[in-house]
Amino acid sequence: MKHVIVTGGGAAGMMAAYAAAKCGHRVLLLEQNEKLGKKLFITGKGRCNVTNACDREGLFENMVTNPKFLYSAFYDFDNKQLMELLRQAGCPLKTERGERVFPVSDHSSDILAALSRLLCQSGVEVRLHTKVEEVLVRDGCVTGVLLSDGKRIEAEAVVLATGGMSYPSTGSTGEGHRMAAGLGHSIKECTPALTPMEIAEPWCATLQGLSLKNVALTMSCKGKRIWNGFGEMLFTHFGISGPLVLSASSFYHKCKDPDDVTIRVDLKPALSEEQLDRRILRDFEDNQNKQFKNILGSLYPSKLIPVMIALSGIDAKKKIHEITREERSRLAGVTKGLTMHVRGLRGFAEAIITQGGIRVKEVNPSTMESKLIQGLYLAGELLDLDALTGGFNLQIAWSTGHLAGSSIPL
Ligand SMILES: Cc1cc2nc3c(=O)[nH]c(=O)nc-3n(C[C@H](O)[C@H](O)[C@H](O)COP(=O)(O)OP(=O)(O)OC[C@H]3O[C@@H](n4cnc5c(N)ncnc54)[C@H](O)[C@@H]3O)c2cc1C
Repeated sequence: MKHVIVTGGGAAGMMAAYAAAKCGHRVLLLEQNEKLGKKLFITGKGRCNVTNACDREGLFENMVTNPKFLYSAFYDFDNKQLMELLRQAGCPLKTERGERVFPVSDHSSDILAALSRLLCQSGVEVRLHTKVEEVLVRDGCVTGVLLSDGKRIEAEAVVLATGGMSYPSTGSTGEGHRMAAGLGHSIKECTPALTPMEIAEPWCATLQGLSLKNVALTMSCKGKRIWNGFGEMLFTHFGISGPLVLSASSFYHKCKDPDDVTIRVDLKPALSEEQLDRRILRDFEDNQNKQFKNILGSLYPSKLIPVMIALSGIDAKKKIHEITREERSRLAGVTKGLTMHVRGLRGFAEAIITQGGIRVKEVNPSTMESKLIQGLYLAGELLDLDALTGGFNLQIAWSTGHLAGSSIPL
C-alpha cells in the first residue's frame, strides 16, 4: 500500500482516486474549491453528457489530438465500463441521439453523487479548500506536495489532475501546467477549442438567436477546405455558435493564416445547384406579380430573409417577373454558400475544452506515469488531448484517470 495524493477533484481526479483506493492504496484527494466536480456539474448544460455509447472505434474517431496515446487508457477503462460503474453506484443512465449518454434524471448532480459514493465506499479521504502549490521531488522521485498555506504532505505517488484552462471560474486555471513545467515537462501552447467564433460581417449580429438545422458548414483557410460537417448552428451577438461551429473550432489550429478563414454555410444541402435553381424558378412562376421580398418565406426562416435579400443584391421591391436569370442564380449561390469571415475564436472563458497541454510523449501511455519523474501520474484535460463534443472529453478524463490510479504499484 502506498500513500497517494490526487490533486484536483474533477472527473479525472475523482476517477483516479477511486481506482487507486480500489487497488488498496491510501488515497488523499485534494481540491481547491469548496466542492468536488464544479466543472462536471455544469457539463451538458447541467445534464452532464457523461460519455458516448459508441463502440471503441468510435471513441478513437472522435478524438482530435493524440488519439493513439489513448489506446491503453481506452482498453483499461472504456465507456461501457464507466456506464456499468455509474449504474452500480446508483445512477441510472440513458442514451440519446448521437449515442450521447446522460443520467436518466437529467441532473449532473446525480453523476456527482454516484462518484461521491464510490469515493466514500473505497475509503478515499477528501480535503476541500486545499490548493496544491508544488509537487515535491527528490532525486527524480515524488515525495509529496506543498500546499498554498505552506504545509507539506508526504506521498509516494501524486496524480496531477488539475484540468485545462477553459472556464477558469470552475477552478481550472492551468495550475497543473505550471507545476509540471517546473518539474521539467514541456507544455504545448494552450488554445481554446470547442468554442464559438467571432464573425466580421455586421449582418451576422442581426440574426442573433436564429438557429439553423440541417445545414452543411465548411471552414476554409485561404480557400483550402479545413473542416466540414452537417447539423445545427446558431447566430449570436458576436458571431456563430452551436454544435457545427464548436466542432469546426477544434480544427481552427490547422488554419495557417488566421486572417483568411471563412465559414460557408449551405442552407439547402439536400439540393444540388440545379435542383435549387429549379425550386426557386417554381416559386417564382407561382408568384409572378409579387414583390421579391414577399415570396422568400418558403425558402428561409423569416429572420434570415432581409440578409438573403441584401446578399443577393436583388431589389427587395422588384416584381418577380422582372428578376433576371443572373439575379436568380446569385440568390441560389448565396443559398448554397452563405459566407462569413472568421475574426477569431472566443476565449477560454467560453471554451468547452483546452487544446494543448502537457506533451504526451513525456508520459507513459500504458500507466500515465511521467517519464521524467518517478511516482508522478498525469490525467485528464491538463494533457495534450482533446475530442469532439458528445461525451468524448469526459471519457478522456475517466479513462486516463482510471489508468493513472490503477497503475500505481502497491
Ligand atoms: C461548459 C462546459 C460543458 C461541458 N460539457 C461536457 C459534456 O457534456 N461532456 C463532455 O464529455 N465534456 C464536457 N465538457 C468538458 C469536460 O468538462 C472536461 O473535459 C472535464 O471536466 C475535464 O476533467 P478534468 O478532471 O481533467 O478537469 P476539471 O474538471 O477541470 O477538474 C480539475 C480540478 O482541479 C482543481 N484544481 C486545479 N488546480 C488545483 C490546485 N492547484 N490544487 C487543488 N486543486 C486544483 C480544479 O479546481 C478542478 O476542480 C464541458 C466543459 C465545459 C466548460
